[in-house]
Amino acid sequence: MKKTLLILFLLIFGFIAFILFRTFTFSSDQVDYPAAKRVAVSDSARYHFAEAVSIPTISYADPADFDSTQFDAFNAFLKQTYPLVHERLGHQNFEEYTHLYRWEGSDSSLDPMILMSHHDVVPIASIRKWSVHPFREGIKNDTIYGRGTIDDKFGVIGILEAVEQLLSEGYQPERTIYLSFGHNEEVLGSGAIAVAGHLKSQDVRAALVLDEGQAITKDLIPGVGSEIALIGIAEKGYITIELQVDMAGGHSSTPAAESSIDVLAAAIGRLKAQPFEAKMTPAMRGFMRSIGPSMGFKSRLAFANADILEGLILSTYESASAAGNASIRTTIAPTIFEAGIKDNVVPTTARASVNFRIIPGETKESVMEHVKTAINDERVQLYYASAGSNPSPVSPIDSDAYRTVYRSIKEIYPDVLIGPSLVVGGTDSRHFTGISDHIYRFAPFHITPHNYTCFHGIDERVGVAEFEDGIRFYRQMILNNRLQ
Ligand SMILES: [Zn+2]
Repeated sequence: MKKTLLILFLLIFGFIAFILFRTFTFSSDQVDYPAAKRVAVSDSARYHFAEAVSIPTISYADPADFDSTQFDAFNAFLKQTYPLVHERLGHQNFEEYTHLYRWEGSDSSLDPMILMSHHDVVPIASIRKWSVHPFREGIKNDTIYGRGTIDDKFGVIGILEAVEQLLSEGYQPERTIYLSFGHNEEVLGSGAIAVAGHLKSQDVRAALVLDEGQAITKDLIPGVGSEIALIGIAEKGYITIELQVDMAGGHSSTPAAESSIDVLAAAIGRLKAQPFEAKMTPAMRGFMRSIGPSMGFKSRLAFANADILEGLILSTYESASAAGNASIRTTIAPTIFEAGIKDNVVPTTARASVNFRIIPGETKESVMEHVKTAINDERVQLYYASAGSNPSPVSPIDSDAYRTVYRSIKEIYPDVLIGPSLVVGGTDSRHFTGISDHIYRFAPFHITPHNYTCFHGIDERVGVAEFEDGIRFYRQMILNNRLQ
């Protein structure tokens, strides 16, 4: 008996020692690069940016609301503001308002690099809550205000300022560089789809694609004091499934035991009660490896032993926040629920839309299977509401392309930690999966607890200094076009 206890004690002691050993030897994989020389940015850049933001290039849910005069104005603005870009780069429009520029490299044996962004913006939902005008405020207190300052004229103007500046210095890249700016990323992305189709028809294989999707975060990840630049290496898929129930209706004075509303509501209830399985994605493993060693003791211990503590880590993510939960599983969000026209009529039809964001490893089809099984009621008809999209493939983190994005970030923001991550929303870059295996999603603005809600929300803004650093970052990406 004593011997058994002793063995048990030794086993437990050994296990704890093993876990602690791994925690204390969990060393940082952050790579340092010398800071780049801080180039001057012309004062005109901020005014160009403010002017770009003042043009309400809004993408509405209903295509009938599309205001082409604003997009015409934006086209004219680009042409007038970036003369060297338009003089020296190839330029093609797709669907009139999506732009593709081609900057010929000196070494045609190198596969091109593509810098992406989009200049459409989401509508203003609650203008009364804005403290400034979303399209007319301009610059105030070293801050540029307005819809699109973050999402994502920051990228369009940041990239064009960098290119115009480099052209004025007589610079030519070795690798051909494409600039692709979509005009309807917030709705269908058909502009980006057209560009991708064109590049494919030209047999273009890109060595690197950089689009929006992640940023530099501050105080958003518990246990880390430093700023963290996240590089999105994959993005979730998107599908909306419509649920419809048709049953006999009638007068509400003599209701049947079950109505279409009851059946539909119960179906949604069952679906919500059976969430998709939580999973550790490659992005999450990469994040734990890159950021874990810089975290507080508890997280560091967990991440250093992620193979043993996977269940614990997943349940912590699940309960920590909605964003944490979204990063580990396919999410279920009922977004539309409609039935009934009059308070004393039992409706014959009830309908609901449920939006799913699909984690890498699952598909639109596997989501449909899960929904069918969870609801388990043949009276509920299920349809895909739109074509949707499967999750993107996962781009590697041990590639020259990833290292180039990484290096360019460190050269401009020497103090940040950098790690890979999963993008839970969608970007235009998902349409480029046939063009490149190296698609990364990062735009160099800061997301903090203070400005988090302005993204697609109220008082969208970005600091002038932050925007100017953004130009420096895109410049650095271009200078690093050899991907070494
Ligand atoms: Zn965007």
